[in-house]
Amino acid sequence: MFKIIDLPYAADALEPVISAKTLSFHHGKHLQAYVDNLNKLLPGSGFEGMTLEEIVVSSAVMPGSTGHPAIFNNAGQILNHNLYFTQFRPSVIPDQIGDPVTPDLIGGPLLTQIETQWGSFDAFKADFEAKGTGLFGSGWVWLAGAPNGTLTITQEPGAGNPLTSGLTPILTFDVWEHAYYLDYQNRRASHLSALWQILNWAEIKHRYQG
Ligand code: MN
Repeated sequence: MFKIIDLPYAADALEPVISAKTLSFHHGKHLQAYVDNLNKLLPGSGFEGMTLEEIVVSSAVMPGSTGHPAIFNNAGQILNHNLYFTQFRPSVIPDQIGDPVTPDLIGGPLLTQIETQWGSFDAFKADFEAKGTGLFGSGWVWLAGAPNGTLTITQEPGAGNPLTSGLTPILTFDVWEHAYYLDYQNRRASHLSALWQILNWAEIKHRYQG
């Protein structure tokens, strides 16, 4: 049985970037439904006893394999949301409001690799936002790391996760409408550009550096 993760901050801690109302639906309703669905699907499926990551990789539809889409969609959405919700931190750190995304805040090997590949952090941000805005329909935009440290931005439809391509998921923006519609209506780009204000770079760097 999988359980829903606890949020590592208060329900209103991400305001005004993500409202308490959006968070309550996104975590309490959408993520809870994925957890409930997976727990119903697992018995007798052959995927019992696996970790979430193992289920996602082994149930994915891949060339030569029809996979198990119902299992994959629910397990993928749980894994994706766990990584999504735990990459944020409260927005009420006074010194960081208005200028929260300085390279100094990031630092270390991740920033060095971003600057090597994109030229600057701002160029990376623009590319990441454009790929999130340009993803047709529902899905996720990811920053993912290859075993040699090279970074890639991937656009994953539905419940997709770069793990199924052998990459490590590092940072993700959820572009399903349920992630932003209450606060931003159809303005996906405005929502994505605001998310940088609440990222927990200590957590994100840890995912890259291991
Ligand atoms: Mn979502």
